[in-house]
Amino acid sequence: MPIWQYIILFLSVLFGGSLGFLFNKESKNWLQLILSFSGAYILGITVLHLMPWVFGSDIPNIGLWVIGGFFAQIFLEQLSVGVEHGHIHAPHKYTVGFVISVMLGLSVHAFVEGIPLSYYGEHYMQEHGHSHTHNHLLYGIILHHIPAALALVILLKVSGVKKRVNWLCLSIFAAMSPLGAAASNLTVIPANIQTGILAFAVGSLLHIATVILFEMDSPGHHKIPGRKLIAITLGIGFSILTIV
Ligand SMILES: [Zn+2]
Ligand SMILES: [Zn+2]
Repeated sequence: MPIWQYIILFLSVLFGGSLGFLFNKESKNWLQLILSFSGAYILGITVLHLMPWVFGSDIPNIGLWVIGGFFAQIFLEQLSVGVEHGHIHAPHKYTVGFVISVMLGLSVHAFVEGIPLSYYGEHYMQEHGHSHTHNHLLYGIILHHIPAALALVILLKVSGVKKRVNWLCLSIFAAMSPLGAAASNLTVIPANIQTGILAFAVGSLLHIATVILFEMDSPGHHKIPGRKLIAITLGIGFSILTIV
């Protein structure tokens, strides 16, 4: 993975998080719009690019990795209270344990997602005979980590965490996916395990995308506001543009 992709990955999360210092919980209308776009885009690239790779492999029962990733994400969101999908569920009382739990859930998620980044671009280049790489997984990760970083900062802020500690947590989160990519770059991972880890990431992305889109609806009303519908349509549209 080229060095500029590591840098973009890190800086985009810092950027998303720094917006969180300017905004408060009330001004989350536009966070909702970014989320609608990113949920639809992630669903698109997962189905259009990542799943064909995973299910086109000859690894037996590869679907088990997908299921594993999906349910691991449910477990991680018990720790992170849904920050991965940009949700802000503030606790009634702030404790150090709460911050550690959120950071643990978020960091494990981001690290695991970073692992397939280091070999995705190369694989795409071989499959499609391109002279340059397209790292759709990178775009998908950046798109949901920007709102996730924003949600993290706001969550910690409204929980009463000091600004300095908040920046530290944000930096740790920003470093996790690049660290996952770097770790996988430094290790020799057999091809079938590479595909397995990507399948695991597919499971977690499917969970995040569907939860985002599910939460767009005000509970049980099946009525998504027009602006969000436009953002969702744009997200799916942009993901389809990547295959034409
Ligand atoms: Zn949620
Ligand atoms: Zn993620």
